[in-house]
Amino acid sequence: MPDTTEIAPPPFVRPANLHVSEHPAVLHKLALLRDERTEPKKFRELVREISWLIGYEALADAHLDVVRVRTPLEMTDGARLADRIGLVPILRAGLGMVDAMLELMPTAQVWHLGLFRDERTLRPVEYYNKLPDEATVDVCLILDPMLATGGSATAAIDVLKNWGATRIKLLNLIAAPEGVTAVSQAHPDVPIHCAAVDRQLNEHGYIMPGLGDAGDRQFGTGHTG
Ligand code: URA
Repeated sequence: MPDTTEIAPPPFVRPANLHVSEHPAVLHKLALLRDERTEPKKFRELVREISWLIGYEALADAHLDVVRVRTPLEMTDGARLADRIGLVPILRAGLGMVDAMLELMPTAQVWHLGLFRDERTLRPVEYYNKLPDEATVDVCLILDPMLATGGSATAAIDVLKNWGATRIKLLNLIAAPEGVTAVSQAHPDVPIHCAAVDRQLNEHGYIMPGLGDAGDRQFGTGHTG
């Protein structure tokens, strides 16, 4: 792990587009997720479970159509999801959030977006984009466990807006104040849903206290010892 030298964080004003879950189940699972002793298998399960809960909250305003349903006893009104949902996992760490969201919204389309962070500049570099020519969904959910500097998230939102997406939400597990501020200033219309806003970034761009590298911890690729 990188060392943890810090500089004083700027004052953080919570923007109106920020939604931090306060659900006890989320907070319980988040502590397990942060724990350095949590193995990749358990870590992946927790990413999935917390994503489900955050996604559930984020989709509370999804649009519905009324449908008629015949129960064994009589006809009644029911609801059917009207919005076409697009899931946009940011490779690679966002992959761990996809299955949970597909459980919630089985008809969602999945559009992968590959952005990596240049470790020298901490700026996002796009290396994979298979979006079709025109937007095919009504709501795009960007999936990325960590909102650090906000560079990747802002770039992903730019890509989706240029694509024609009008309703975009950002789903993270842990956010840094710096990332929340950057995304909110660039895209105040995009709600951010997360399980926690942590203290600050360190000089390597890691969220403190955070959980380390979300990709490495899911896929067992971290350096140990
Ligand atoms: N990406 C991660 O995986 N972890 C951080 O703390 C910051 C960015």
